[in-house]
Amino acid sequence: NEPLLAVDDLHVEFATRAGLVRAVNGVSYSLQAGETLAVLGESGSGKSVTAQAIMGILDMPPARIPKGEVRFNGTDLLRLSEEARTQVRGQRIAMIFQDALSALNPVFTVGWQISEMFRVHRGMGKRDAVKKAVELMDRVRIPGAKQRVNDYPHQFSGGMRQRIMIAMAIALDPEVLIADEPTTALDVTVQAQVMELLAELQRESNMGMILITHDLGVVADVADKIAVMYGGRIVENASVHDIYKAPAHPYTKGLLESIPRVDLKGQDLYAIKGLPPNLLDMPTGCAFHPRCPYRQDNCVTDSPPLYEISGTRNSACHYWREVLDGDQG
Ligand code: SF4
Ligand code: MG
Repeated sequence: NEPLLAVDDLHVEFATRAGLVRAVNGVSYSLQAGETLAVLGESGSGKSVTAQAIMGILDMPPARIPKGEVRFNGTDLLRLSEEARTQVRGQRIAMIFQDALSALNPVFTVGWQISEMFRVHRGMGKRDAVKKAVELMDRVRIPGAKQRVNDYPHQFSGGMRQRIMIAMAIALDPEVLIADEPTTALDVTVQAQVMELLAELQRESNMGMILITHDLGVVADVADKIAVMYGGRIVENASVHDIYKAPAHPYTKGLLESIPRVDLKGQDLYAIKGLPPNLLDMPTGCAFHPRCPYRQDNCVTDSPPLYEISGTRNSACHYWREVLDGDQG
């Protein structure tokens, strides 16, 4: 049963002046229609780079994909011609980014920018295309869409601009929607509203959705499964339920304990000590060992494989059993 989208043993490297940066190191994940995968990690973990590889915007220097596949309905996108890939990218797989203001063109009305999707890709005339734009603005719940279709991006709030980006992304009914930190620039209330909208749209259309975030708290209610990335690798993947019940990697555990909980006011938030790894000078053995409260001697020398805990769960920690049981070190 071939998934809708499958990233398989993906490797991405960047030639930089300081040396070769291995940004993604053998990442695999998959997505079914109607499913939401949250890809979680700090900046530099490789979560955005993996998404860029899916979108096909990494196949030129200094980026290189030495190994791996990105299969969409069974076809490897990395081996498609540029022309064939253009039919997929932005249409059947769409992406939204963190920064809606810079992604929108300030000199065109939002109606014009949304309707462009229909004019360019569906060959619609201007009038019909603008009508579709208004429908889409309604669908992403922009109040007074009909009156606002001729407004410019700066006349909208941050949350409304992100809704406009979402409207453009879903305009052509994509099968996969990738959202890279879609709510990071927004305040907490608006974050929740945008997440709710994404979840609703996904339910209506049965899209597969990849939510890229550094904030486990944001995705808890909408994701089905989570892939946690660290230093260009997946260190844990599991259902949201399993991860919340008991994480199987110390890094996931740290992320969970960093989420502010309303029911535990005044608690000390556990923030993971130390810095993310330097991709030019990765720690030996387990890349997380300099920060890990569970570290043993062999962690410094032996790189952990992605151990299979169950059919749907993996952890790249030699001591995942201890982590699951919750006894520290
Ligand atoms: Fe920590 Fe060792 Fe597990 Fe790495 S392998 S996460 S250092 S316990
Ligand atoms: Mg990023």
